[in-house]
Amino acid sequence: MNTILEKQLVGDFDQALKEKQFCMYLQPQMTSEGKMLGAEALVRWQHPKRGLIFPGDFIEVFEKTGLIYRLDRFIWELAVQKLARWQQEGHSDLYISVNISTKDFYYMNVYETITALVEKYRIIPSTLKLEITETAIMTGTAGELDMIEQFREYGFQVEIDDFGSGYSSFNTLKDMDVDVLKIDMGFLRTSKPENLEKSMSILNMIISLSKTLGLSVVTEGVETKEQVVKLSQMGCGIYQGYYFSKPIPVEEFEKRYM
Ligand code: C2E
Ligand code: CA
Ligand code: CA
Repeated sequence: MNTILEKQLVGDFDQALKEKQFCMYLQPQMTSEGKMLGAEALVRWQHPKRGLIFPGDFIEVFEKTGLIYRLDRFIWELAVQKLARWQQEGHSDLYISVNISTKDFYYMNVYETITALVEKYRIIPSTLKLEITETAIMTGTAGELDMIEQFREYGFQVEIDDFGSGYSSFNTLKDMDVDVLKIDMGFLRTSKPENLEKSMSILNMIISLSKTLGLSVVTEGVETKEQVVKLSQMGCGIYQGYYFSKPIPVEEFEKRYM
């Protein structure tokens, strides 16, 4: 049963999409030296009455009610438009990662939708990265595994998001080929300080495993310099987190990093 607030948000959806109240924020992905490589696109809702709303308050509701695919399609288009612009301006090396919800696979042909956008705006496919959670992959029944193969053949980079948070992380790696592991930020947030060392050992193991498998690793949720130092000793190459920057509006991102 949805709460009253959830019902209201669902009721506001059509108009919000039409009036472009949803916007794309970008959070940079950096090397340990602070070079910006690309960004993750994260949606925000500029609600006329409620102000800025974060995805934690609406993504799940839109997933439950089957609206999410329309929002995702809209955000993917904003990302592809931005990449097209960057590529026209000579920034062809920068990428944007977009989120794909498990539910998207049920309501639309994700492959056709994304390739159509790439063809419409003529972007380099490898500059669009696709973030899919391991849960989506392993519990999927809508041909997600085959689609991931197709995405990679087309030239997209596929990332496993929140790696290590599900129950089937290692099966996922065994059963499919991907390009990037995004390590779940849970490993950096232990409830008890005495567990930190264990967490660090697991991180170390995941990073060296991904090297063996030829994958790149992004660690999410880095908030301190110490974390960056430790993780780069372990061999992590790419970071996303408040230590470098929170997600910010596109104009601000361009001003700061480009
Ligand atoms: P996610 O894909 O795991 O995205 C990372 C989240 O971690 C973002 O939250 C980001 O702001 C936050 N984060 C990044 N660095 C740090 C840090 O150093 N410390 C802390 N505490 N948090 C950090 P956000 O933007 O609120 O998004 C939450 C979730 O909502 C995302 O998690 C993703 O699952 C979902 N989401 C966001 N945008 C979209 C979208 O366009 N489509 C879909 N389907 N889901 C989205
Ligand atoms: Ca993500
Ligand atoms: Ca994540």
